[in-house]
Amino acid sequence: MADVLVKETTNPYEIVKGQIRHACEALELPEIAYELLKAPKRFLEVQIPVRMDDGTVRLFTGYRSQHNDALGPTKGGIRFHPAVHPDEVRALSMWMTLKCSLLGLPLGGGKGGVVCNPKEMSERELEELSRGYIRAIAPIVGPEKDVPAPDVYTNPQIMAWMMDEYSRLEGRNVFGLITGKPVEVGGSLGRSEATGRGCVVTVARAAERIGLDLTRATVAVQGFGNAGSVAARLIAERGARVVAVSDSKGGIHAPGGLDVDAVLRHKRESGTVLGFPGAREIGNEELLTLDVDILIPAALENQLTAENAPRVRARIVGEAANGPTTPEADAILRRNGVLVIPDVLANAGGVTVSYFEWVQNLYNFYWTEGEVNQRLEEMMGRAFDRVYAMHRERGVSMREAADMVAVQRVYDAMKARGWLH
Ligand code: GLU
Repeated sequence: MADVLVKETTNPYEIVKGQIRHACEALELPEIAYELLKAPKRFLEVQIPVRMDDGTVRLFTGYRSQHNDALGPTKGGIRFHPAVHPDEVRALSMWMTLKCSLLGLPLGGGKGGVVCNPKEMSERELEELSRGYIRAIAPIVGPEKDVPAPDVYTNPQIMAWMMDEYSRLEGRNVFGLITGKPVEVGGSLGRSEATGRGCVVTVARAAERIGLDLTRATVAVQGFGNAGSVAARLIAERGARVVAVSDSKGGIHAPGGLDVDAVLRHKRESGTVLGFPGAREIGNEELLTLDVDILIPAALENQLTAENAPRVRARIVGEAANGPTTPEADAILRRNGVLVIPDVLANAGGVTVSYFEWVQNLYNFYWTEGEVNQRLEEMMGRAFDRVYAMHRERGVSMREAADMVAVQRVYDAMKARGWLH
């Protein structure tokens, strides 16, 4: 056990660097490719003063990382969480580069974060923090530079405040600054469901490939936020039985299946999935090793570890979260024949519809929800097929295949731009 703890790699920055290095080597790219990709091109740290409701002024620390913009403006969410760390933000921006590239978007990778606990802040304090953060990073963002979006514990309202503050600074409406906005102010239909929807598209394709009938499959979902709650609802709509879900307070298990809409209502009213009638309470750890066909980690990094991975019983893991699996766990899952759909593929639906939102803002021409969902499903399906084909042809894992496809495209763009000599 101690041995396992010593060896486990949990710094997301080290993890993503390892993934990129591995892809560069497998593609036999010149050393300069890795040199250019191993760290963000630009990293900003800011201090944001906020007048709290008790009259005191508190200083919050925020970050914005712009990893690589060879393919287009950098793109990626903003996380509000007490555990936000600069290396985590760096890593998340690097995964964004891979994600945007893999999906064929004309965008690079960025990410932001603020160290705070939004659950303990009033609406007014949150608004002031959101406006202060965007003011602090305003010099380096914009529709043609870097386009933020929601992430863990941020939402459309926060995006609206940030868009409004930036528009005030500019003296005009700049809807294309940020995506994931409410539909009333330039948001795209389908954006709030996009991450979960994209994840379910990839899980359904994976199930087809391994001969698993979704209508007979059981599912456990860790995390019941932007991604997890939607993934649970949509996979249930496709006939699968969602038997367990969890949030930061713990999980619930009902072998006969959960009514996902009813759990959503329960969480909206009580603030947690716990206490849902007819379900047994379980820990987050127990959820990951339940006897289910499909496991969807949709919370934070480093949930599947060398310690619990040997006990994972699912046949498919669909990574709706970013970085939920440590490299050590990844190797164990692979050895045990679990098909892992990597985060850069499984959760890329969010940024894909963010791209649609940005395009709609720039054109000032808006699509129907049907158009958005259809294009999303096509693009996710195509990306899945490409990764799956590489996985089979080259005998590499789905993660290695995704990283190879993604790194190759960024490399080609850097080469065309003359960055390599
Ligand atoms: N935060 C999401 C992600 O990790 C979405 C980013 C975006 O829409 O730009 O992919």
